[in-house]
This record gives sequence, structure tokens and C-alpha cells, in this order.
Amino acid sequence: MKVTSTNKNLFQLTRFVDFNCFLLRDDDGFTLIDTNMGGQAQSIMQAANKLGLPIVRIVLTHAHVDHVGSLDDLHEALPDVPVAISERDARFLTGDKSLDPSEPQVPLRGGYPICKTEPTTLLHEGDRIGSLEVIATPGHTPGHISFLDTRDRSIIAGDAYQTQGGVAVAGTFEILFPLPAFATWHKGLALESARKLLSLQPSALAAGHGRVLKHPQAEMQHAIHVMEQSLSKEERKQSHVA
Ligand SMILES: [Zn+2]
Repeated sequence: MKVTSTNKNLFQLTRFVDFNCFLLRDDDGFTLIDTNMGGQAQSIMQAANKLGLPIVRIVLTHAHVDHVGSLDDLHEALPDVPVAISERDARFLTGDKSLDPSEPQVPLRGGYPICKTEPTTLLHEGDRIGSLEVIATPGHTPGHISFLDTRDRSIIAGDAYQTQGGVAVAGTFEILFPLPAFATWHKGLALESARKLLSLQPSALAAGHGRVLKHPQAEMQHAIHVMEQSLSKEERKQSHVA
């Protein structure tokens, strides 16, 4: 895996060019954010080793296969390391793909593998975990969360945004890298979540796919605008058909 250091605390681990997970330096060691595709556990642990700190917790932005793929292998190798995910997306790890009555009844998209690992912590909006604050950002998945590093206001956004193939809100079709769009459950909620992340005035944006952006607010604003345009176009089309 390629290791890119983006600031003194955040290290991006990339498989091929498209799939990221992150090691975040905290007071007690590394927080691993997401676990990449399957087969990456050894490389992730080697990267942490080389950087000189143990992995002390694993946190997950959502339950898609390219974010939880190496979870079971990592948990087997590091059984005492706590694992945290949103309470909502934790259900997917058990194979329960039901929607709540309060949620938009549209089909789930993307791969949700069953994992043997039982999360030790179920996260909600506003929770603190190490130096991170949990920001609920549903849309890409029902229980998608992002993390705000309270020390420097960088945001690790999972798939709420992508920066690969252009900066985009989850659900916007980017021809150079359409995977997150194909895997997005609800575009309207994804757009609201993207606005919420921008309102936090982030200093950097780290996404599941693509490079870390510093000073990302103008590009986030543009991505939101593009998504708004495309959603209102879709709505107009639908009202035509009706
Ligand atoms: Zn995803």
C-alpha cells in the first residue's frame, strides 16, 4: 500500500490508486479509519509498524465492502483493539439489510458483506472517540458517519464525498470514477450530509477515494452546487413523466 502523509497526524494508505483507509495519530497510538478491501490487513499493520505506533482502535465510516473488507483479518490479528461503527450500519455487518420504517424506502446499493467481528462501540452523532468527533452523514449508506479531527478541523468523510475523478458529493456520477455513485443509497440525504460537512468549515477533506484536499471548502461548495443541479434536473424529468 502506498502511504501518503498529509499532515503530522494523518496518514493515507492507498491500495492501487482508488481505495483509501487512514491512520490517525492520537495520544495513545493510531486510530485506523476504515479497513480497505479484503486482503489488506498485513499491509495496514506493516504501515502502522513502520510509522512507529500501534493501532489502538478501529473506526468505520460505513459498512461497504471496500471499507470493512479487512475488518475480520485485522480483528483476528488485533483481538483487543476496539472496533466502532454507527449503530445503524452495524446491523449490515450481521447481514440484516432491512430498512427502518422511518427511512426512505429505496433499495440499498453497493456490497455489504457479513463480518464475524462484533463492534465493541456503537457510534452516534456527537460522540467523541480519541480526538475525533462523530458526524452523522447518512445518504451514501443509511448509517454513514464522518469524523472531525477536533485538533485541526480536518474531516475524514468516508464516501460522503469523493475526490477521485473530480471532487463530488456521494451520488454524483463522475465518469472517471463512478463507483461511489453506483453505491449510493439516497442522493437527497447525501446532499444534506455534504452541506453539513461544509458547514463545519473543514481545514482538509480526506475521502475514501482520491487524494486528501487541503483548504477544501470552495471545491466542496462547487460539488454541492453540481449535485443540486443534477437533482433538480432529475426532479424535472420525473414531473414530466408524471
Ligand atoms: Zn461506500
